[in-house]
Amino acid sequence: MSDCIFCKIINGEIPSKKILENDQFLAFHDINPVTKVHALIIPKNHVANIAHLTEDNASYVDGLLPFVRDVAKELGISADGYRLVLNTGAKAGQTVFHLHAHLLGGQELGWPEA
Ligand code: AMP
Repeated sequence: MSDCIFCKIINGEIPSKKILENDQFLAFHDINPVTKVHALIIPKNHVANIAHLTEDNASYVDGLLPFVRDVAKELGISADGYRLVLNTGAKAGQTVFHLHAHLLGGQELGWPEA
């Protein structure tokens, strides 16, 4: 989508601190980290959020978690633990409407969030 900032990151129109990519996903550092390690993982094809997934995006479900595992390894947070957050919709705090998972770690994380 032409006005989507994450699509612009994928296309190289906006710079990002890239961590890892494959044919389906891109991982890069969040510009405004809320934890010591804060990465974003996005599909390369635009979809607004989980609520908009269709059969065409079905492979995201299979592909996402193994990619997250590899990103966490790359960031060195696999052993200590990390959290994956997918804000879905404005009331859940989603501000960028291109599906993304926040990978949070590098420190002790509190729970629950509300
Ligand atoms: P959300 O509030 O779940 O939609 O998360 C959007 C995230 O995108 C926020 O954590 C922002 O800090 C992050 N963000 C926005 N623009 C950029 C950018 N150009 N590069 C990296 N992260 C960004």
